[in-house]
Amino acid sequence: MQLVEALQSLKENGYKYTGKREGMIRIFDREGRYLSAKEILEFMQQEYPDLSFDTIYRNLTLFEELEIVECTDLGGERKYRIRCNTSDHHHHLICLTCGKTKHISACPMDKMVSVQTANDFQIIGHKFEIYGYCTKCQ
Ligand SMILES: [Zn+2]
Ligand SMILES: [Zn+2]
Ligand SMILES: [Zn+2]
Repeated sequence: MQLVEALQSLKENGYKYTGKREGMIRIFDREGRYLSAKEILEFMQQEYPDLSFDTIYRNLTLFEELEIVECTDLGGERKYRIRCNTSDHHHHLICLTCGKTKHISACPMDKMVSVQTANDFQIIGHKFEIYGYCTKCQ
C-alpha cells in the first residue's frame, strides 16, 4: 500500500479525505514500521497540537477496516503499520525495539500438511510473525 493508494481507498469508500487522515497516512508511509497510537499521536501533534487520542484511535480503526494498515500486538501494545505494497504471500521479522520489519517469503503453512488436510475445518487465513532485534537495535 502506497500513500496514493491509501488515500484513494478512503475516497472510494466514501470517507472524507481530511488533512488529519492524510497526515496519519503520510507518517505510516514515511516510517514504514510498526507504530503505536501514542507514537502516531506524538508525530501528529507537531502539526495539530490539540489532537486527541480519540481521533487517532477512530482513524486507526477506520484504516484497519479499509485494510490500509495492518496491526499486531507487540509487548502487550497494539501497533500499526501501513500494509505492504505487495500481494505476494509473505511474513515478517519484526524488531521489538523500533518496529521495523523484514519480509520472509517462507510460509510455515506449506509444511503443515496435516492441518491443510483437516478438511472438516475451512481455513481462511493464518498469522505468523518472528520477533527479535534489527541490526541497529541489537
Ligand atoms: Zn510485508
Ligand atoms: Zn530495530
Ligand atoms: Zn503464510
